[in-house]
Amino acid sequence: MLIARSIQEAGLYVELHPCDCGARSELTFSMIERDGELLAVYEGTCAGCGQARRFEFSIPREPVPGRAYGGEQPSSILDAGEFLWYSDRGADRAALAGDQRPSTRELSALDGALAALDEVVKFIPAGADAIPREAIHSEFGRAVYDANPDRFTRESLSYRRELLLDARAEG
Ligand SMILES: [Zn+2]
Repeated sequence: MLIARSIQEAGLYVELHPCDCGARSELTFSMIERDGELLAVYEGTCAGCGQARRFEFSIPREPVPGRAYGGEQPSSILDAGEFLWYSDRGADRAALAGDQRPSTRELSALDGALAALDEVVKFIPAGADAIPREAIHSEFGRAVYDANPDRFTRESLSYRRELLLDARAEG
């Protein structure tokens, strides 16, 4: 059972975990109750290889506000590398031209980038200056980390946050 802090987090997990064959296919989403627990279920058949796919997440009943993926605690199902990659993708999608006001769609992409970046920061151990590589568990997340470990320092993440906030303020 995967423990998600929110439906947004469960959805992002599914998005970042395509089938082993590499295909990304739409899965059907439903919410169910089982043994007093609220579960988010994603299921379907892979369009690439025909394999049955199913993810089950335990979801708290109290939704998190705004675009947040969860509270103070870092994710237990996604790691800092995955969140940073997703944040970058949101920032890329906003693709701001310097003198241009961001559109509503670009602002939304920036908000997504900021929300994902906030999740990265939660992985910095108390009193530490950076996220240790050992804290990143997925192969994908480690590839993101290895490509540029310097991005996982408190300083670099806070600089990145300022940059995104500045881009947002242009609107
Ligand atoms: Zn497949």
